[in-house]
Amino acid sequence: MPSRTNASPMKPIILARPDHCVSRRDISSAAIKVLYRLKDEGYTSYIAGGGVRDLLLGRHPKDFDIATNATPEQIRKIFRNCRLIGRRFRLAHILFRGEIIETATFRAPAPENEGEHNEKIFRTGEDGQVMRDNVFGTPQQDALRRDFTINALFYNIADFSIIDYAGGLEDLKKKIIRVIGNPDKRFTEDPVRMIRAARFAGTLGFEIEKNAYDSICRNKEKLALASSSRMYEEVQKLFFCGHAKDVFYWLEKTELLHPMFRDFSHWIDEDRARHDWVIQTLEQMDRWRKANLRVHPALLFALLFGEYHEFRTQQLIDAGASPFEAARNAVQQHLQGMCTNVRVPKQVIYQVSDIMTNQLRFERAQGQRPKRFMQHKAFLDAFLYFQLSSKAHTRNTELLAYWTELRKEQD
Ligand code: ATP
Ligand code: MG
Repeated sequence: MPSRTNASPMKPIILARPDHCVSRRDISSAAIKVLYRLKDEGYTSYIAGGGVRDLLLGRHPKDFDIATNATPEQIRKIFRNCRLIGRRFRLAHILFRGEIIETATFRAPAPENEGEHNEKIFRTGEDGQVMRDNVFGTPQQDALRRDFTINALFYNIADFSIIDYAGGLEDLKKKIIRVIGNPDKRFTEDPVRMIRAARFAGTLGFEIEKNAYDSICRNKEKLALASSSRMYEEVQKLFFCGHAKDVFYWLEKTELLHPMFRDFSHWIDEDRARHDWVIQTLEQMDRWRKANLRVHPALLFALLFGEYHEFRTQQLIDAGASPFEAARNAVQQHLQGMCTNVRVPKQVIYQVSDIMTNQLRFERAQGQRPKRFMQHKAFLDAFLYFQLSSKAHTRNTELLAYWTELRKEQD
């Protein structure tokens, strides 16, 4: 790719309305209202980032983010239904019924020397974005500080054109995830961008461009420097995106899985057969997502790490622990240990441990116990785990039939 990515002034590629497929009909009416209000007040107003990417790909965007040259204060004056958020970079949330339109002033890039630093030392507790407070920029600067070329496109409401400063249109055609600027520098600045690359490659069915891929392989251990609470948020996006299996493929291929889930990934590597359970789990996650079913984090972690937790449970039983104690401790030790990299909330750890200890109750099918268990709020998650694990390991066939029948009777 030519030097599309340096910060020198350059002309963007502009696709006029007849030359692209993005129609106002595909944009939410709330976003359209915000775009037009800003434009009518004399400001530049663009849809930016993932929304434009998804519209061009004919996908349904999750949300529409707006970029403008109006400052947060100016935005607030225009919209009554507006709240300014963010400590380091102020941006506006414009509230509509059932929808929030995030509207940000064009941002300048991070100061040069900040790329040297890592989040844990300099950014503890922050969202990890490396930037000075409220340094507004030009549309070009705003485009070039974004992570990947395909995420740096604008849709201009003034003439319905697409504006491309970073080569994103070409990369959309070629189906590649390309870092804007020097990959080593951009991944050091914000290591979370590496797992974002895996997420976009998996979700969109794209390849990670070679320089970016090689850079991830070189820099993957830096993921451990990212803020653990931000990692928790990102991990959920990886597995709830509806393409968890494909995303997992990229996490393994780039070996990003190691710095994310250290113990678990070593355990998988020891025996490739352990992979099968994980893949089956991810396929199930994707089916639930496609059916628009909401899976909560505890069920995700219980399923994803299920076979590993069972393995650790057995080790503890062999060392003399009771099955209940072993199941609880196996989960808690693992997830608490993981918290330095991915901070799983305590509440979620307890829920995962409940799912695992409750597995013991499926074997106790006498008297009133089954009915009482079924009325318990923790039953459904435990049952979903029981069902999936029984099928995956072809075990508990009769017990599963019994509980399935009992559930039908209760309905
Ligand atoms: P999704 O559809 O999953 O929401 P998205 O591209 O909209 O994908 P967001 O996390 O919502 O991703 O971020 C919105 C935009 O902000 C991105 O498209 C990208 O331009 C920019 N962005 C987000 N995170 C980063 C980052 N870590 N570094 C640089 N730019 C980022
Ligand atoms: Mg988004």
